[in-house]
Amino acid sequence: MKCPHCLVEFHADVIWTHLGEDADGEMGIEQYLCPNPDCKKMIFYLVWGVSWSSSRLRGMTGMTTDVKKRFLVYPKGSNRPPVPPQVPQNFAEDYMEACVVLPDSSKASAALSRRCLQSILRDVANVTPGNLANEIQQVIGSKTLPTHLVKALDMVREIGNFAAHPTKSEKTGEIIPVEPQEAEWNLDVLESLFGFYFVQPEILKSKKDTLNKKLKEAGKKEMK
Ligand SMILES: [Zn+2]
Repeated sequence: MKCPHCLVEFHADVIWTHLGEDADGEMGIEQYLCPNPDCKKMIFYLVWGVSWSSSRLRGMTGMTTDVKKRFLVYPKGSNRPPVPPQVPQNFAEDYMEACVVLPDSSKASAALSRRCLQSILRDVANVTPGNLANEIQQVIGSKTLPTHLVKALDMVREIGNFAAHPTKSEKTGEIIPVEPQEAEWNLDVLESLFGFYFVQPEILKSKKDTLNKKLKEAGKKEMK
């Protein structure tokens, strides 16, 4: 499994703690300690539907079959990668909050991710403010994005079902029914846009600066 703290894959024995039983079955805490020396943090899942007598045996091998429900209770958050440091704070905040609420509410997550997307389109892609569907159309029409991002953004529009309910795209914060996978897609698209608008240009710039420094040292003309 991947550690939700450090996002490094690890294999560790599970420790079970039996909590009790309710209408949904038995419940317990599944506990891991991340063995990554840079992390060494605890991870807790609340688990329903474990047959306790047998799970104690299975627990020794770390198997978690027969599990009906499993919630990550610590750390609070998602298994999504952290926001790259190049992303400006205001965009990163909406994105992280959209990630954190996703397991509890896909609607709330989608509302936050749409708001984050709209801010990026307005502040970075410089679209003329309108409704989100129209703003997505503007950035697609500007032909400044690679094809894979155009397709990805088009899907965000489909998820919002803006075509069927044009009024729903007027306010990005509006609550629209979405499936968890659809809300997750919005986050995937934001992650790709972060890469395109903030991470890649920074990486290339720092590589160019290094190259220019070397060229200068060699007495050659710098690249513009
Ligand atoms: Zn870890």
